[in-house]
Amino acid sequence: MLREAALRVTRPRVAVLSAVHDHPHADTESIIGAVREVLPKVSHQAVYDVLRALTAAGLLRRIQPMGSLARYEARVGDNHHHLACRSCGVVADVDCAVGAAPCLTASDARGFTIDEAEVIYWGLCPDCTPDPASST
Ligand SMILES: [Zn+2]
Ligand SMILES: [Zn+2]
Repeated sequence: MLREAALRVTRPRVAVLSAVHDHPHADTESIIGAVREVLPKVSHQAVYDVLRALTAAGLLRRIQPMGSLARYEARVGDNHHHLACRSCGVVADVDCAVGAAPCLTASDARGFTIDEAEVIYWGLCPDCTPDPASST
């Protein structure tokens, strides 16, 4: 993947890419933790720099639900959307509603050429949804 994006293959880049692959929607701190399991001496700054470079190269996608830390994922280019829990902040993938970008038609594009719609569906995840049977 790195070579296809014309990026030099370095150990931090490989470690960050595989950490994000293994932990989709992880925030920077979790990614640093996962990278340090492989490269114990990697600095915060190095991970930040790699995340920025990989995102700019299109290998990672950065999402930032309102009020949440930036999160990264390796699932790029398929125009999928996200579900976000207002209570615990968990993020999950939702496939594009129609299969091609942009999957929403703007009611008024105001002359813009639209190539992407990024949707976050907000609500409560199953774990945070009160169970009607157990509430009194
Ligand atoms: Zn939740
Ligand atoms: Zn995703």
